This record gives sequence, C-alpha cells and structure tokens, in this order.
Amino acid sequence: MAEKPKIAWYWCASCGGCEESLVDLAERLLTLFETVEIVFCPVAMDFKKEDVEKLPDNSIAVTFINGGIRLKEHEEMVKLLRRKSKIVVAYGACSAWGGIPGLANLYTLDEILERKYLEVPTIDNPKEFLPAKKTVVSIPEVNMKFELELTEPLPVLRPLDKVVDVDYYIPGCPPTPDVFWNALQTLLGNNLPPRGAVLGALWKSLCDECPLNETKPEKLLVKEFRRVDRTTPEPNKCLLAQGFICMGPVTRGGCKALCIKSNMPCTGCFGILEGVVDYGGKAISYIGSILDYSPMQEEEIRKAYDKIPDWVGVIYRYTLPASKLRHKVGLEFPKLIKEMVEL
Ligand code: SF4
Ligand code: SF4
Repeated sequence: MAEKPKIAWYWCASCGGCEESLVDLAERLLTLFETVEIVFCPVAMDFKKEDVEKLPDNSIAVTFINGGIRLKEHEEMVKLLRRKSKIVVAYGACSAWGGIPGLANLYTLDEILERKYLEVPTIDNPKEFLPAKKTVVSIPEVNMKFELELTEPLPVLRPLDKVVDVDYYIPGCPPTPDVFWNALQTLLGNNLPPRGAVLGALWKSLCDECPLNETKPEKLLVKEFRRVDRTTPEPNKCLLAQGFICMGPVTRGGCKALCIKSNMPCTGCFGILEGVVDYGGKAISYIGSILDYSPMQEEEIRKAYDKIPDWVGVIYRYTLPASKLRHKVGLEFPKLIKEMVEL
C-alpha cells in the first residue's frame, strides 16, 4: 500500500482558534485521517520535539504553522519543521501577518508582563509574582525538587515568513473549514499554485462577495463612525454606509462574508489586497476618503475620529508586525533596532 503523505501542525503565539478550525472539519476529519498520516500536532497528540528531529529532512509533505513567532522555542521549532518539510504553510492571520497577538509590538516586554500579571482587573497576584526564567519547584511530600525553565521571549512578535521561507498562506482568524479543506486538497494534489500564493482567498475585495454590496452607495460618505458595542446595525444595509467601520473594501474576499451575514462588520482577517503594500495605510486612507467633511473642518474631523478609541487596533488588527511600522518606534532602543536590522 502506498505511504500516506505526512502532515504536521504546530502552534506558536496563538489563541487555539486555528486548531479549532481543524476540529471544525467535523466529518471531514475522518477522510483526513484516512488520507494523511499526522506526525506532529502538539495540541492533540503526544509527539515530542525528538520525534520531529528523528524524521528525515523533507519527509513531511505539508506543515501548517499557526500563531506568530514570539518565543525562542517558536523560532527553533519552525526552523526544525522547515528543514523536515517539503511545504510550509502560514496558517491563519497570526502566522501570515502577526495577527492580534502582534498588537503587543506596541509595548515593551516589561510593559506586557506588568499589564498581564499586575494590572489587569481580573488578576489575583497579591505577592506580585512575575514569570521567572528559572523556578525551583519542591514537592516535600515525595522529597522531590526540580528546576523549571521558561523559554526566552523575543523582543517583538514576527510573522512566520520573517523567520523561515513560507511556501503558501491560508488567511483568516481562524481560516474557515472550507478554506482549509480546499487548500489541503490543493496542497496534496499535483497542481500546486505558484509559491507564495494565498490559498482560498479571492483576488477581489470582500465587498465583491458581500450580500450587502448592492446597498453600498456608489459614492459612500459618512458623517460619524459608530461602534457595534454601542449600537446595533440595521440589518440588510451596507454596514459602512451606516458608519460602522467595515474593512470589506480593503480586505481580500474568500470567507463568504460570514461576519457580515451575522450583522458584524469585517475586521480584515483575510488580509491585504494584491498589490497593496501596507494594510493599515490603505485602510486609513480609505476611511479618510469617505468622511463627509471638508479638510478645513478640522474640529469635526477630530470629533469623528475620537469616536473610535483604538485606531491602531482597527486598521492594523491583523497586520502590524508585517506592516512598514512593525512595532512601536523607540521600543527598547537601541537593542531592538539592532535586533530588527539583523532579522
Ligand atoms: S489567526 Fe486568529 S484564530 Fe488563529 S491563532 Fe491567531 S488569533 Fe487565534
Ligand atoms: S463595506 Fe462591508 S457591509 Fe458594505 S458591502 Fe463592503 S463588505 Fe459589505
């Protein structure tokens, strides 16, 4: 019997949603298990790094990697998996462009740790412990003492292709099961798309496949921005025309407009349109172009923009580490600059 192609899955700085999209294949998982051999998948199966090390180079047909590169361990694992794999796929927005965890590039590591372990209202840490690189754990009941060592964090989060060569990208936060399934069939077939292709995404913008597109005015102008946590959008009417910031015009289609069908504006997880250099730059320029004020009405323009408290989170929600900015300028100067230049 012919050998099944070997498949691997790995997660870096991720939320687990991308793994859920694997589970969301539902009955198709049975076909998947019949068709491929899964050789590494830490979220679900007890394989170790040594198991990957023992595999011959290039013996894994396709490795899917989700999450951004935030720890030394991520960097080591993706380099190992690159060596062992014929095809490496950046799976999901975090891996492709940095994603939501990439917004942490706006803060230093110390600021992130302080916020997470000392400041957030839900934290219960009266002794103000912060994660230590090494911790000695003793269990007197069994007379045991051992040392735990945490992997080293990197100064900023990077998309996968800033660390290893990436063959293909699968967009989404997370990718939809259909997008993943179709991409898998393509990758296991004999007709591979050109290297670097974004699998499952359309060349056109989301507006092109949006069921509300016909209600989007030819010349779209808005007086004020609105937020879905404050006002419920009217159904069956273009969300952007109602003032809700919908990223449909500047985002690739291919998701079948799932958020829009749930009356939620697009937040941009299918990523950058072909030919656009910087997603956030394109987004803010588009948003600026639909604001219905003359350039002289500065105060009104400022008031309109002030309705949105986190513009970086809106225009760079999934792409900050892949953008021209990449991180907050001034972060850990000069060490950071030195490291970024070397990356
Ligand atoms: S792309 Fe979205 S679902 Fe996947 S790991 Fe990142 S945040 Fe989670
Ligand atoms: S702006 Fe949003 S709601 Fe309007 S047509 Fe485009 S994707 Fe649909």
